Amino acid sequence: MPISQHHARNVTDRLVRGRPVDEVVGLLTDTSEEERPVPPRVPGLREWSADAHARRVEFVAGLGVEIPHLTGTAPRGDASAMRGSIENYIGMAQVPVGLVGPLRVNGMHARGDFYVPLATSEGALVASHDRGAHLLTAAGGAVCLTTTEQVQRAPAFVFERMGQAAHFAAWVVGEYEALQAAVSRTTRHGRLTDVGTHIEGNHVYLVFAFHTGDAAGQNMVTFCTAALCEEILARTPVQPRYWFLESNMSGDKKATALSFIQGRGRSVTAEASIPRALVEEVLHTTPERMSDYWRVSFVAGVRTGSIGVNGHVANGIAALFLACGQDVACVSEASVGVTRLEVTDEGDLYAALSLPNLIVGSVGGGTRLPTAQECLRIMDCLGDDRASKLAEICAALTLAGELSIVGALCSGDFARAHAALGRGSPAR
Ligand code: NAP
Repeated sequence: MPISQHHARNVTDRLVRGRPVDEVVGLLTDTSEEERPVPPRVPGLREWSADAHARRVEFVAGLGVEIPHLTGTAPRGDASAMRGSIENYIGMAQVPVGLVGPLRVNGMHARGDFYVPLATSEGALVASHDRGAHLLTAAGGAVCLTTTEQVQRAPAFVFERMGQAAHFAAWVVGEYEALQAAVSRTTRHGRLTDVGTHIEGNHVYLVFAFHTGDAAGQNMVTFCTAALCEEILARTPVQPRYWFLESNMSGDKKATALSFIQGRGRSVTAEASIPRALVEEVLHTTPERMSDYWRVSFVAGVRTGSIGVNGHVANGIAALFLACGQDVACVSEASVGVTRLEVTDEGDLYAALSLPNLIVGSVGGGTRLPTAQECLRIMDCLGDDRASKLAEICAALTLAGELSIVGALCSGDFARAHAALGRGSPAR
């Protein structure tokens, strides 16, 4: 569609936010951040005593964030506060939250050293990501680049014959400005950014792409698409026999090849260069062995038909989503990604991770819940202008997780760490 070129220009404009492209690119090559002194690690590493817990809570307070809901000292809100989050409310499921960090991120939107809250009941998960964060931070941090920001909804229209379907599709393409106007009457922050048309016999699938501001956007795009369908049905020269608001082509809550290629939510790519000595010291292995493992696992991923190939991105994403009030069903799409490990000419380790489907929000949805707000505040990721920052932290965190798990598989620590931390029993 001709709109795509216009769409690409819009995406670039929005991503650079009025800054010259050179300046933004400069951020990604600037090494001065890497030399900043590293702030302290989360205290009481792998200590489960009440004293260690108290020190960690005090540590978070030292970051300027009180966490009475996470620690359970704040009174519970009444049931009416749950409206919009749950129906037939009976209580709260509890999942423990641990803290990882510091994690140094040199991104377009996330820049600095972050402490990242993770909710999980899988022993070893926090320790593994913390080890990866320590490695990345000591190596100067993960460079992160957000490349696209878009969320799709895809209605379908069914006609008598293909000729009417083609007529309808051609008409819709010419109505782009009118469709944008309908969207701006529905939302203050959402924008229609592209329309894809797919004709299949007498079916027309329209894939509407929206920029959803700092919201994850599933409700926003649903309401906007309802308004768009109303506008289309009121004015189309050819009426469908019937239609549906969502045809299952948007990729919502599933891993799809289309979203992998086009991007859904935030698309972020992250990289890091890790000196050989750090790989040996922190992961007890070598860049060569990690690169060998990556090649073996990549072939295995291809042979199993995986969309994207990565180690355990779902672990970090699910834990961060749970802690931060993100829609955990979106882990199905957000954990699609490609990890790559290579040995550099200097004998160091180059690591890259691309996550094209990060559906995250710093406003709306579950970010209203008190514990989610506390977790988001720890990273300064609550509110306006923070969603891409959160997405880049997700990418850096999961790159840390990838490095740690591959390191453990290469050094032989994988089973030992899970025995020690996953079952609470000493390693055999
Ligand atoms: P939402 O809470 O429904 O909507 C976001 C709200 O925040 C809008 O009212 C928006 O106002 C407002 N807003 C304020 N500042 C904003 C900013 N800076 N950027 C963007 N919006 C801003 O959240 P959502 O992200 O659209 O939907 C997420 C929820 O939908 C999750 O709870 C998810 O589980 C659920 N969900 C819904 C569906 C569905 O089909 N309906 C499917 C899956 C999941 P304006 O719109 O006026 O800008």
